[in-house]
Amino acid sequence: MVKYIFVTGGVLSSVGKGILTSSIGKMLQTRGLKPSVIKIDPYVNVDAGTMNPYMHGEVFVTDDGGETDLDLGWYERFLDLSLKQENNITTGLVYKTVIEKERRGNFLGRCVQIVPHITNEIKNRIKTVAKRTNADIILTEVGGTVGDIEGLPFLEAIRQMRLKEGFKNTLYVHVALVPILDVTNEMKTKPLQHSVNELRRIGIQPDIIIARSPKMINAEALRKIALFGTIPEHAVFCSYNVKSVYQVPLILDKQGMGDFICQRFGFKCTAQNFNEWQQFVNAVLNPEEEVRISLIGKYAGLTDSYVSMNEALRHSGAACKTRVCITYLEAEKFEQDPQCVKDLENFDGVFVPYGFGSRGTEGKMAAIEFARKNDIPFLGICFGFQLAVIEFARNVCGLKNANSIEVDPNSPHPVIALMPEQRGVKYKGATMRLGSHKVILEPSTIAYSLYKRKEIYERHRHRFEVNLDYLKVLKENGLCFSGKSIDGRRMETLELPDSFFFFASQFHGEFKSRPGMPSPEYFGFISACLNKKLGKPKPVFS
Ligand code: GLN
Repeated sequence: MVKYIFVTGGVLSSVGKGILTSSIGKMLQTRGLKPSVIKIDPYVNVDAGTMNPYMHGEVFVTDDGGETDLDLGWYERFLDLSLKQENNITTGLVYKTVIEKERRGNFLGRCVQIVPHITNEIKNRIKTVAKRTNADIILTEVGGTVGDIEGLPFLEAIRQMRLKEGFKNTLYVHVALVPILDVTNEMKTKPLQHSVNELRRIGIQPDIIIARSPKMINAEALRKIALFGTIPEHAVFCSYNVKSVYQVPLILDKQGMGDFICQRFGFKCTAQNFNEWQQFVNAVLNPEEEVRISLIGKYAGLTDSYVSMNEALRHSGAACKTRVCITYLEAEKFEQDPQCVKDLENFDGVFVPYGFGSRGTEGKMAAIEFARKNDIPFLGICFGFQLAVIEFARNVCGLKNANSIEVDPNSPHPVIALMPEQRGVKYKGATMRLGSHKVILEPSTIAYSLYKRKEIYERHRHRFEVNLDYLKVLKENGLCFSGKSIDGRRMETLELPDSFFFFASQFHGEFKSRPGMPSPEYFGFISACLNKKLGKPKPVFS
């Protein structure tokens, strides 16, 4: 019988529910159990694909091409899972399905209502994931904060699930902030108490409360939380500030949370084994070296815009026993003051991430040009790949005003063009080239030496690609396209063989990067940055 854990949040958002949900999964997984995770997002967008990463953070892409909330990235990284589109449920998706059913006549004669039709759809979606994944535990994180109007149908649905699935098979975890007041240095549990009351008003009594606090909660705060939350003290846990998010499952397990959940569910499981995880955490916490990376972005104000990329860089750092310090630089800075680009000399590597639209593109290309000419290790991802092609076309091949159709539709040299299948596409939602696609790597290239195989699968999210009309001139001038789609018509990776490390990919290696198993392209980049810094020769990967 599958068990369901529901995670709700109180007081304010961004208390790290995604990390906590992933951590609960990890504690169970290290005891030999099989978890899967669902994220509920109460917004009306059908998926996260049409939202600005600057406001909402990165759009995470699943193997099956889902454009999802970034929390799925945390679940995948912590649990080494490949989740699907269906692991992200939004208000938009739920209503769309119910309304389509109504139009088809599925509810003929009846009045379609939030309860039971919307709530049934939510429950069905959760149960579908349970059936399909065959998991022992389904963790469902409800986004937003208890009390939000838009979250109500979801909370009602998870409340109903206890009736059907039974107490033995359901568990409610409530996470809320416990701030410490500067003036008195006191831990304040009152906001948490209020959020528990709000949850109860909706009909949910939590089984576990996690206090999210800067420091480990003291006995007094613990006593109050248990008393007012109506739960035993050993069901209260604290997620305090730690250096690395990857420590969170370790600190909660130490407090007994993993054992508590297993007992509550009557799981007869093996003793937890955190060995590998602990090793990775040790590598993160005790680096021997440090490299400084400049990330030339456009959504640099919100680091969540590049969260999977950050993590992929850090996974690679851990594998090289190296701390990766990332400085976010606004690309437009290089346009306003071209001298600024010289500052890149102070970095061990230049990283140009994904992006959309024209703002900041000239600045990003100035950074790429500087990296190429000064032989500073460079990694470009997706838009970063496309801009590296444009920069090369302009400054090495002499194709004046070369550009991407996305940036300049009238460019005389559209070296990056719209993919043919995108031509008639009018709708913006879920219409890019998305998800996992096979890439064939050329032997004796950096790409091949990094991945150590001829065929790889990586995730994509783009509308534009290298224009085949320019392949010949780019190649003749020394640009090597070392990875291609199966039909050979889509350029997937590029490299400059003579440089220290100049590599870019149309795909997004970061989505498959894991603690202890960094994305090969990111690993190659960080290794090169480190070698360059230490004055060693360029790394050989095979
Ligand atoms: N804007 C580019 C495209 O759509 C790159 C997309 C990206 O960086 N994810 O092709």
